[in-house]
Amino acid sequence: MAPSRVAIVTGAARGIGAAVAKRLAQDGFAVGVVDLVEDNCKDTVAAIQAAGGTALAVGADVSNAEQVAAGVSRVAEELGAPTVLVNNAGVLRDNLLFKMSEDDWDTVLNVHLRGAFLMSREVQKHQTEQKWGRIVNLSSTSALGNRGQANYSAAKAGMQGFTKTLAIELGKFGVTANAIAPGFIETDMTAATAARVGMDFERFKEGAAAAIPVRRVGQPEDIAACVSYLVSDEAGFVSGQVIYVAGGPQD
Ligand code: NAP
Repeated sequence: MAPSRVAIVTGAARGIGAAVAKRLAQDGFAVGVVDLVEDNCKDTVAAIQAAGGTALAVGADVSNAEQVAAGVSRVAEELGAPTVLVNNAGVLRDNLLFKMSEDDWDTVLNVHLRGAFLMSREVQKHQTEQKWGRIVNLSSTSALGNRGQANYSAAKAGMQGFTKTLAIELGKFGVTANAIAPGFIETDMTAATAARVGMDFERFKEGAAAAIPVRRVGQPEDIAACVSYLVSDEAGFVSGQVIYVAGGPQD
């Protein structure tokens, strides 16, 4: 059993992160609900508490080292040593390469990759001390390449190399690291993509579902279920893997 059942989920104010935070609370973890603005975490925290769980809202920009250190310390002080970390916070700044600004590139790389690095570096202190830990990083099917997402696909492919390296370095401390690469999941992020290409979201989802072997788009709970397994005790021999949760195989 995990010595301290405390989890941190980043980007947990909404979407996949919120579903993961709720699921881990159901699984018996006290959850540090981290997002850019503390107030935006309140709905997730309230839902967890209403279901009888324990959660703490923490405002932190995952790409800012000081805010990350302060946020992880707060969780450790108020909930206990965090042994589970889900690096989920993410942003899109889609554009074709010739129109992509340096800011588009830096923002995406900073939130996804630098954010996962800073959070993992901070949380591993507790995990190695406890001799038990689980890190789950959100990659994406876009890691395999996607038009208009040079920044995002580079970040999500980077997440996979980062995950494998964490698995190698931290394994001897009882810490596993795995990545989940979702396909199309119905959230504000995919709604924003539909809006950007000028399509009605329902039509956009129908089009996506037609190309997915199980003939539906994913829900945040599909990802939460996979996270729940990867952070469990029984998943202790699964490490350094990338699991595509996309309703079908990926190339
Ligand atoms: P979402 O609905 O846009 O939620 C992302 C959350 O991350 C938001 O609450 C956002 O806060 C927060 N966030 C952004 N920058 C942050 C920062 N610097 N520090 C802390 N929090 C920050 O996205 P989602 O669809 O749930 O996606 C979650 C993760 O899954 C992302 O890593 C995404 O790349 C990945 N993913 C999603 C899909 C999909 O189809 N939806 C597919 C593959 C992978 P604000 O609201 O304040 O910006």
